Amino acid sequence: MSSQLQSATSAQSIPSYLHADDLGPWGNYLRQVDRVAPYLGSSSRWLETLKRPKRILIVDVPIELDNGTVAHFEGYRVQHNVSRGPGKGGVRYHQDVTLSEVMALSAWMSVKNAAVNVPYGGAKGGIRVDPRTLSRGELERVTRRYTSEIGIIIGPNTDIPAPDVNTNEQIMAWMMDTYSMNQGQTATGVVTGKPITLGGSLGRREATGRGVFVVGTEAARRVGLDIKGARIAVQGFGNVGGIAARLFEEAGAKVIAVQDHTGAIHKSSGIDTHALLQHVGNTGGVGGFAGADPVANDEFWMIESDILIPAALENQITEKNAAKIRTKIIVEGANGPTTTAADDILHDKGVLVIPDVVANAGGVTVSYFEWVQDFSSFFWTEDEINQRLERVMREAFNAVWQVASENKVSMRTAAFIVACKRILMAREMRGLYP
Ligand code: GLU
Repeated sequence: MSSQLQSATSAQSIPSYLHADDLGPWGNYLRQVDRVAPYLGSSSRWLETLKRPKRILIVDVPIELDNGTVAHFEGYRVQHNVSRGPGKGGVRYHQDVTLSEVMALSAWMSVKNAAVNVPYGGAKGGIRVDPRTLSRGELERVTRRYTSEIGIIIGPNTDIPAPDVNTNEQIMAWMMDTYSMNQGQTATGVVTGKPITLGGSLGRREATGRGVFVVGTEAARRVGLDIKGARIAVQGFGNVGGIAARLFEEAGAKVIAVQDHTGAIHKSSGIDTHALLQHVGNTGGVGGFAGADPVANDEFWMIESDILIPAALENQITEKNAAKIRTKIIVEGANGPTTTAADDILHDKGVLVIPDVVANAGGVTVSYFEWVQDFSSFFWTEDEINQRLERVMREAFNAVWQVASENKVSMRTAAFIVACKRILMAREMRGLYP
């Protein structure tokens, strides 16, 4: 085991089913948890709970491909913690998904849900598949078989999946239908992020991007940065980065650089986000967009901005590029985009990092609203939803800001302090069974 890992976490909390030499994203999460230990007071007695997922299910997902052959995919559902309520968290489809990644993502959901104080634990799912290689029929069959396989541990009161990377409303509709058919009754509350016609919520699709915008403007206000004319750089131009960029542009900011899996573009006078959203809708990525200049992928990180929004995958800001980043505020639209080593470099440079567990919590917050609306069969207006979302995000931001100032710690450590205290207090009050 490397000395870095040894110092980050006690050997006894490394599970036998991961490689101790390369814990991947789970190692990053463990290092983040270790940083809060000194601030937890008597709750620290329970801290080890957070270093072990409650339940892990690994499933084989076999489907018949359109060409008549059978393909097998590896699927996961991890329930990290359910002390404060049912498990909650998305499902991602990606060829590089690993158990370590889904474990870390499930743990970040526990922390996120507690940080914004929605009554859920944390869970996450994934399938190791590149959905772009599947036909629509194959995608539906993968989704239905996966849902059936994890059907033994999900449910409206036990664990509620939602969209994440490469999953969308249609996939949630298939998941809801599959679960409902197996149960013999329609259960809309088993997933969130559904189409509006099937018990989905207004504002859910835009919620994560809107939340990024709300905390981004709140952070800007705190450091005296005027949003009008502020330079925004965004990595990822999907549901999170694309929506956040559009909202910042509408508020008077300039989106000067964008990067995704198809390339990076730059325009110092500001990219037209409506035109770019259309281009991405037509071509699948920002590469080849005529309204800006192409730049090399690693150059993207060196472009000077006021707010940088990593809104793609984890481990994007590392010790390799952190020192070169020239920005004032980083708002983490993605889950886990910054490694702990990069966090320290950014902190030393005076960059304010608004951590994922607060910055991208808008999605799960409106998922919570959707779940509540499904249970009461009474649906709210978009204005009501956006207002409530803004209130939750601002309150979470302010609570974390205060803890960060009082303890002179980063916003990430402060968010973990707020969240871990809530989770561990619930743990303590419930007591150990039996
Ligand atoms: N996948 C989103 C996240 O990482 C949303 C999860 C949800 O709505 O349950 O926060």
